[in-house]
Amino acid sequence: MSADVLIVGAGLIGLATGYEFSRAGYQVLILDRGLVGQESSWAGGGILFPLMPWDYAEPVNILAEYSLSLYHNWTEQLFAEGGVDPELIQSGLVHLFPYDMHSALSWINQRGMRCEIVNPQEIVSDLLSETEALWFPDVYQVRNPRLTQSLKTVLEKRGVQIVERVDVTGLIARNSRIIALETSSGQYKAGSYVITGGAWSQSILGAYALNLSIRPVRGQMLLFKDRPSRLKQIIYHQGTYIIPRKDGHVLTGSTLEEVGFDKNPTSDARENLFHRATDLLPWLRDSEFVQQWAGLRPGSPQSIPVIDRHPLLSNLYVNTGHFRYGVTMAPGSAKLLVSRFLDQEAAISLKPYVWPHQLDGF
Ligand SMILES: Cc1cc2nc3c(=O)[nH]c(=O)nc-3n(C[C@H](O)[C@H](O)[C@H](O)COP(=O)(O)OP(=O)(O)OC[C@H]3O[C@@H](n4cnc5c(N)ncnc54)[C@H](O)[C@@H]3O)c2cc1C
Repeated sequence: MSADVLIVGAGLIGLATGYEFSRAGYQVLILDRGLVGQESSWAGGGILFPLMPWDYAEPVNILAEYSLSLYHNWTEQLFAEGGVDPELIQSGLVHLFPYDMHSALSWINQRGMRCEIVNPQEIVSDLLSETEALWFPDVYQVRNPRLTQSLKTVLEKRGVQIVERVDVTGLIARNSRIIALETSSGQYKAGSYVITGGAWSQSILGAYALNLSIRPVRGQMLLFKDRPSRLKQIIYHQGTYIIPRKDGHVLTGSTLEEVGFDKNPTSDARENLFHRATDLLPWLRDSEFVQQWAGLRPGSPQSIPVIDRHPLLSNLYVNTGHFRYGVTMAPGSAKLLVSRFLDQEAAISLKPYVWPHQLDGF
């Protein structure tokens, strides 16, 4: 199989990157050691907004905002090209107290984002809460498993080769370039290589990870099923969110756990999330409990992804480390990576997303 660009990892970041390369006219090959979009990109909630954005470093918000500005057209185009609806919905988000009022209001005013301080029952009448809330009517969600399916369908229609169940086990370099990838199915070669391996990006790079620092951060979720439209808005309270899907499914999450690559859900998290969600919406107790799962987010220093060319290997790139916001950042990050590849000016500065500087010792 020959390709101009070989992408390692078929999560949302790899698929979005493949789509952007394909639109730019390149032959793309994507390898995944499992099935398309079954890791963090499946496990996530699909809220398209950093939770408590005022607590994040500016580059996180700037990339999220840039990516969100693309989302409407991007998902419409995917739906039109492939026929699978990623279900982009304007749900709005009720952010219950506590929050740092000063930081929140100055962030909101600076952005000119629509937000009101409300009695939360004005928005969700059956919400059990004594506190006031911030109401963000312009927050969107996407149904992330549908989005990966939509991307996969479009990529295949475009002739992008996606090969599943191929484990990339090593990078072979010569004269400051990657010349092939070692995999469970022999060697794969291409003109350039992009690592989009999510939480596994660092281990895929091996010694070539240099001072890149990507770690797995486990997040657990619960899924309920109730009647459609019983809840329309996303609710957030002290680290727990509740997300309603169009068809009556309701997700609640999530935990933030530093437990290495352990993806097993736990009974403690199940109990805790169940209580937190049902304390806010008691009717959830009577809905059907469908499933619990865990996913591994690609954690990075300050939650800032790295979207750059490798400092020593001229045909190797990474697009990784999106931590809690890879669904939000997927279209924007893909465009930035392709701009970096083409050495073109990007819509936002690439500087905050460069490979970490200190190369001492390498
Ligand atoms: C519980 C939870 C809730 C979340 N909620 C949200 C949210 O509401 N909004 C939001 O924006 N983001 C959310 N996220 C974060 C978001 O899901 C991630 O940032 C995003 O999915 C990362 O995408 P990725 O493509 O980098 O990684 P992944 O989706 O993990 O994809 C990496 C791929 O690389 C493959 N791979 C790994 N090693 C190899 C190898 N050696 N060879 C070949 N392939 C390999 C894997 O099989 C996998 O398919 C959430 C995450 C979790 C876990």
